[in-house]
Amino acid sequence: MPEKVIPIRPASGFRQSGTAPLREPYAGGKFVDTLGRPLRDLRISVTDRCNFRCVYCMPRDVFDENYEFLPQASLLSFEEIARVAKVFVSLGVEKIRLTGGEPLVRRDLERLVGMLSPLGVDLTLTTNGSLLAKKARALKLAGLKRITVSLDSLEDATFKAMNDADFPVAKVLEGIDAAAEAGLSPLKVNMVVKRGVNDDQVVDMARHFRGTGHIVRFIEFMDVGSTNGWRMDDVIPSAEIVRRISAEFPLAQADPDYRGEVAERWKYADGKGEIGVISSVTQAFCSDCNRLRLSTEGSMYTCLFGQQGHDLRTLLRSGASDESLRDEIVAVWRARGDRYSELRTAETARVSKVEMSYIGG
Ligand code: SAM
Ligand code: SF4
Ligand code: SF4
Repeated sequence: MPEKVIPIRPASGFRQSGTAPLREPYAGGKFVDTLGRPLRDLRISVTDRCNFRCVYCMPRDVFDENYEFLPQASLLSFEEIARVAKVFVSLGVEKIRLTGGEPLVRRDLERLVGMLSPLGVDLTLTTNGSLLAKKARALKLAGLKRITVSLDSLEDATFKAMNDADFPVAKVLEGIDAAAEAGLSPLKVNMVVKRGVNDDQVVDMARHFRGTGHIVRFIEFMDVGSTNGWRMDDVIPSAEIVRRISAEFPLAQADPDYRGEVAERWKYADGKGEIGVISSVTQAFCSDCNRLRLSTEGSMYTCLFGQQGHDLRTLLRSGASDESLRDEIVAVWRARGDRYSELRTAETARVSKVEMSYIGG
């Protein structure tokens, strides 16, 4: 039996930035990190729980019945999230993604969407789709603009082996249809590609969604967290994915929609839509990375592969003013020098990192 891996989740005692407050104005986002990158994109994890046990994210032997998820009291409340989000927007954040864990398992999530919608930013959500058929309309009515649904295969056997929750493909497709009907568009479909597991279904996935207006994004399997047993051999490079799809449906590379866009865009030559590839492993995009993640319990992570968070919840719960929150966020961002994917080696891949289900994908 291999030794059981204990996932990292710094529930207490994590580092608080000790940088002295900055006094100059930084409204409008006129501040950058040590590599000149502005803060534009905020990902908020609303829960560390999930009803799936995807083998690459929350392997069941680790996230089992004995695993201790965060207690309710340590989660940021919707009111706290909305307040912090407003402060982030005042600092130049233009895009907010709700994620997790599975965001739709958090009760009444549409209430949070309704609280964030007046901020006027690009508001979106990433979900495994399992509860989407029920929730799509309420989310749209609350002000959600668009949505990303994860789906790793169109074949039940493969999909169930990957979600390890016996969840069928048809239910996710139902969720996708409900979201499209509700007007959540453009709709993106995320497929994590793992060699020997689902890479034989890349072209099928492209074929299925071609011409629907939905955009499939093929994601390289990443060494996030410390529990998914990542090996470089399991990664199918995005270039290979583009080659395989292009052999059947010719593709031409398209310009990014905006600077710092994670996915590289490829359009079908016959005009039947586009796909995206996310090459975090083989073509690092750290130089434009403008994302900050807020964990379920209010800790800021300046990199998906972070080991240490910066506690914002203590400040938030101690009656701090918005100005103090702004000072703290700016201090953390200004000190940021993360570029993990550019520096990745077999050695760094083995180093313990915080779990993706905790800081949000
Ligand atoms: N539960 C939601 C879902 O699955 O869409 C949101 C959270 S999930 C952590 C966000 C995204 O991260 C999903 O699209 C998932 O497939 C992706 N992801 C998780 N672990 C990954 C890994 N090791 N490599 C690449 N992508 C991963
Ligand atoms: Fe859950 Fe999403 Fe992680 Fe799968 S990828 S285990 S659905 S949080
Ligand atoms: Fe951003 Fe870190 Fe990913 Fe680089 S490795 S793109 S810095 S999150």
